[in-house]
Amino acid sequence: MKDRSDLQAILNRIDGRGYKAYKELKGSYDFRDFRLIVDHVQGDPYAAPSRVRVTIPQAQAGFARAHYSTPVRRLALEDFLTRAFHRAAGRTAKGHRGIGKSGLIGIDCGGQEVLERTALFVSDREVEARFVMGLPARGRTILGRDAQEMFLNELPEIVTRSLYYRSLDEKALKTHLHVVEDQTFIREALDVEGLVAFVADGTVLPRRTGIDDRPLTDHPVSFVSPDSLRRSFTTPNRGTVHGMGIPRGITLIVGGGFHGKSTLLNALNRAVYPHIPGDGREYVVTDPTAVKIRAEDGRSVAGVDISPFIQNLPFGKETDFFSTPNASGSTSQAANIMEALEMGSRLLLIDEDTSATNFMIRDERMQALVAKEKEPITPFVDKVRQLREEFGVSTLLVMGGSGDYLDCADRVLLMEAYRPADVTDQARAVVQTHASRRRREGGARFGAIRMRAPLPEGFDPSSGKREVRIDARGVQEILFGRETIELSAVEQLVDISQTRAIGDLIHYYSENHAKSGTSLQEGLARSLRDLQERGLDLLSPYRLGCYAMPRLFEVAAAINRMRSLQIKGSSRPADGSTREGKK
Ligand code: ADP
Ligand code: MG
Repeated sequence: MKDRSDLQAILNRIDGRGYKAYKELKGSYDFRDFRLIVDHVQGDPYAAPSRVRVTIPQAQAGFARAHYSTPVRRLALEDFLTRAFHRAAGRTAKGHRGIGKSGLIGIDCGGQEVLERTALFVSDREVEARFVMGLPARGRTILGRDAQEMFLNELPEIVTRSLYYRSLDEKALKTHLHVVEDQTFIREALDVEGLVAFVADGTVLPRRTGIDDRPLTDHPVSFVSPDSLRRSFTTPNRGTVHGMGIPRGITLIVGGGFHGKSTLLNALNRAVYPHIPGDGREYVVTDPTAVKIRAEDGRSVAGVDISPFIQNLPFGKETDFFSTPNASGSTSQAANIMEALEMGSRLLLIDEDTSATNFMIRDERMQALVAKEKEPITPFVDKVRQLREEFGVSTLLVMGGSGDYLDCADRVLLMEAYRPADVTDQARAVVQTHASRRRREGGARFGAIRMRAPLPEGFDPSSGKREVRIDARGVQEILFGRETIELSAVEQLVDISQTRAIGDLIHYYSENHAKSGTSLQEGLARSLRDLQERGLDLLSPYRLGCYAMPRLFEVAAAINRMRSLQIKGSSRPADGSTREGKK
């Protein structure tokens, strides 16, 4: 095997030559303390940076089994080390060393959430870090000396500072492991406790800005549970944690504008993932099947049975196999709900801010003016209880603007100056004194939640010359063959590396588990099981360091938004509507 001096010799030799000469670097090098593996060398200074790995035998890295003996601990340790590497690179690497990405040393460490990634692996055998390096050049000329600096000085320094147990902040590591473990413990215990969510006292809910997910530093009001909802969990590490437990059922969050309703709901929709220490939401947890539902006019819908909410559309357009390239606010929200239910969601999170009004409410006066026969929409207010009673699905709803939901809520929280009060009794009294003459609509039962089976031929990843062209172009956009999948309304997708994994997972699913007749739910569940068992590396032969684990719901969300999606039983892809060929 080549060693450090061989690498140095190559860099000496190719200094000043054309960029392509960097290709010679590909291979493994023994650096004594660690092994360096150059997997892929970029073609030019502006291309995606080169892919590099470092492995260290566990005996040298020095982590104790207790640091990674359970899946949760391993996840937390890997996350911690990835962030440590990222910080060390930020401190050590000079960065700009020429044009394009020259000088970059970067690892995919994510934001506030802790997700399973391919950036770093810890096992009994070794610690492996995968990262990228921008090989330096001026024009197209190799800067061999800068490359030597990077490989022979910066990189060993980064590795030494971040991947060995002895060089890490032991207390911070412990906190990281403990916090992630405790959150996961509470999330797993929610169900037994009959809860769908938990927010610990002392939580900092608000974020710095709409695009900065770090905690608000400017006098945040910390969370305090109302006494009636206060619950506690005895966690493995932090002892007893007190806070607000939201029981199953229908919970309404009311309150004046600007009193923190949406902020609470947003924290809950993110709390399907663990958060890092210091985030402020460390002890906010939500049922892992929670799905944020919103209106999303313009989206494509393929073969979804939205008839529980929508029937008798004009021009006889069917709604039990509803397809459209351009959904309205209400039909998109109905489809979003039905698709979440199809995938097995047990908790819907809905905010009036991002809902279609006519989907949410239809009040007494409107009922008097517009006959039910003339209104295709059965509002959610008439369906939310049936969903609970017939399917055991809970709803958490922010609704400051309509009192009609008071009739069907199991409990009502009033947000006032960022703190919740339990006003369930007052709400009951209001229902008594201000009786509504609104009639229930939409029948005595919810209706069917239908499983759909996509046709494998609807997934074509090819484009032009390339047989497979799949890429993430930001957190909210996937390029899949000739199609661009738009995910800006999929709020629980939090990391571009999840998006990237989803793109490739769609391809994997279509090739392996979309066989004739398998439901989308079953096919995706199998695909994700494969990922869990065999790792995210299943998605690529190249040992990429830039995948993060998505949830079933977001994978389904991406598929459901594909304009080329074909559902068994439909004669055409999302093209408007037709009953022909329907099974
Ligand atoms: P609502 O949905 O009730 O209208 P929001 O949740 O949008 O209110 O919150 C309004 C503003 O208050 C936002 O700018 C948010 O960052 C801020 N905010 C929310 N919760 C807190 C808190 N606990 N402490 C300080 N500011 C907060
Ligand atoms: Mg709001």
